[in-house]
Amino acid sequence: MPQLSIIIPSYNEEQNIENTYTVLRDILQQCTESFELVFISDGSKDGTYEEIKKIAAKDERVRGAEFSRNFGKEAAIFAGLELSRGEATIVMDCDLQHPPEVIPVMLEKWKEGFEVVEGIKSSRGKENPIHGVTTGIFYGIMSALIKMDMKASSDYKLLDRKVVDALLELKEKNTFFRALSFWVGFKTEKVYYEVQERKYGKSKWSTRSLVRYAVNNVTSFTTLPLKFVSIFGYIFVILAIGLTVQTLVRFAMGNSADGFPTVILLLLGIGGLILISLGIIGNYLARVYEEVKGRPRYIISNTTDKKESK
Ligand code: UDP
Ligand code: MG
Repeated sequence: MPQLSIIIPSYNEEQNIENTYTVLRDILQQCTESFELVFISDGSKDGTYEEIKKIAAKDERVRGAEFSRNFGKEAAIFAGLELSRGEATIVMDCDLQHPPEVIPVMLEKWKEGFEVVEGIKSSRGKENPIHGVTTGIFYGIMSALIKMDMKASSDYKLLDRKVVDALLELKEKNTFFRALSFWVGFKTEKVYYEVQERKYGKSKWSTRSLVRYAVNNVTSFTTLPLKFVSIFGYIFVILAIGLTVQTLVRFAMGNSADGFPTVILLLLGIGGLILISLGIIGNYLARVYEEVKGRPRYIISNTTDKKESK
């Protein structure tokens, strides 16, 4: 059992694999007794898995798995957790935006007895402005909902074996790793790091995929939006009662209002809210549907592990 496992989700990262491996190996050899690198190729369309296989053939501390298609980074992280065997496990990106120099610091904290060491971004690095705004809104909502400051959090973290096992116990298919590692609790410490420039290739996120990621994560983590729906409902019922009373009084006094614009406004307002509410409920229904189907989080098509070692 290696002391430390590093999980590296990789999607179309053929240019990064070799370099990331060399950098990590050199650092890890100095700060750990033993380690393994677990590369998960997330259904890459380029030669990522071939690169991984090449390194795994040369260095037995490197292991790799390939998904049958792109399942997303969350799935890749969980596949990595499942495959990892270390007493401690670190999850980090393949593009070295998570600076590897932080690894020894995380390890020190772990040796001091912390079970989760969160990597916190002290700066977000360069990113495009739309991306900045959407992530800002998303983390604002998430932080308020789960009552933890998520703004600077990232997937870069160290987890003790106990924590990895606890995470693997979770049955849900739609996972949000960053928040779940808060949710499971345990003795937690923070480590700050500066987000680096991506070495090769470009970011895999589009604004569309980020919005989808945000909606998925909010709905898989909290049911508060569903409660908003009924709160809106109550507010409108109360308003409606107030308005009815007012109309009746005016009618009795013989100066009933010329109410046409009011009617249209109300129709529009309530119609809009009903549609939004249906949308929110629909989103949850979709989540429930996905979970009930009970499909696996990912499908592995190839691994570099030999059969007997499984
Ligand atoms: N990634 C993945 N599956 C995906 C998208 C991304 O495994 O569908 C990996 C990617 O290879 C990288 C990490 O997730 O190691 C972070 O992705 P990226 O650098 O594109 O995101 P950013 O740093 O821009 O947030
Ligand atoms: Mg990146």
